Amino acid sequence: MFADKFRLDGKIAVVTGGGKGIGLSCVQALCEFGAKVVIADISPEIAAEGQKKMAALGFEVETRELDVTKPQDVEALAAELNETFGKVHVLVANAGIARSGVAAEDTTDEHWLNVNDVNYNGVFWCNRAFARHMLTSGGGAIVNIGSMSGIISNRPQKQTYYNAAKAAVHQMTSSLAAEWADRGVRVNAVAPTYIETEMTSYRHDNAGMIDVWLRDTPMHRMGRPDEIASVVHFLASDASSLMTGTTVVADGGFTCW
Ligand code: NDP
Repeated sequence: MFADKFRLDGKIAVVTGGGKGIGLSCVQALCEFGAKVVIADISPEIAAEGQKKMAALGFEVETRELDVTKPQDVEALAAELNETFGKVHVLVANAGIARSGVAAEDTTDEHWLNVNDVNYNGVFWCNRAFARHMLTSGGGAIVNIGSMSGIISNRPQKQTYYNAAKAAVHQMTSSLAAEWADRGVRVNAVAPTYIETEMTSYRHDNAGMIDVWLRDTPMHRMGRPDEIASVVHFLASDASSLMTGTTVVADGGFTCW
């Protein structure tokens, strides 16, 4: 009875920014539990690389080019995938950018708007577009990728634009969940700590940065993409059927201190 709740056989899932990093690990997790997965990434090359990696593991995934900052494109993709597959059951709104390391007083309009456009507006466009179909077709599960940066202020790097956008994702998650709960659409979020992906590779160029991160983390380590993907899988599956509006923190204890 319990093991079945984790299965996703026959389910269609879309992962934005799914070509690499945390997104690609989510793709693998969802595939391993039986879902048919579509990688929707801004870069067709990165999406194709991700598809190749999944094929090497025996999983056939599809790819679509998508820039989550373009609401009309997001709507078109949701319509096309629902038409092609009959229904999309799971959306993982993962696409995000960081552009860390700029002080608030030095942040340009372009910088602020760009980070918020991808990390905040993009998440809403995707939630709205895919939920429109889920609400009229028996429900679905949405998992948004937030961040512990939506709860704390990182140090030593400055990134108010990113932190604010991620806090907004957490609030958006609970507000959407409240609106859609009685119509079968669950919306949850995951708030990861520092994860070993390209996004955090700037740590190598900043002496001492990693030491601060690890000192501030009770587990004294960064996380791996698969450690976020397993939480995403849980929230996407019926194993979390009573959960909606929650932001699950996966941070090695960072927010305990
Ligand atoms: P990566 O940079 O490794 O991967 C992000 C993916 O999203 C890339 O393939 C990127 O393409 C794609 N992408 C970027 N912009 C868009 C867009 N406008 N539309 C569609 N796809 C886009 O990042 P991570 O895997 O590290 O991060 C994934 C999510 O997790 C993000 O939301 C991030 O904020 C969040 N997160 C990450 C943490 C970390 O420490 N890594 C910690 C907490 C949260 P391209 O490379 O071409 O830009």
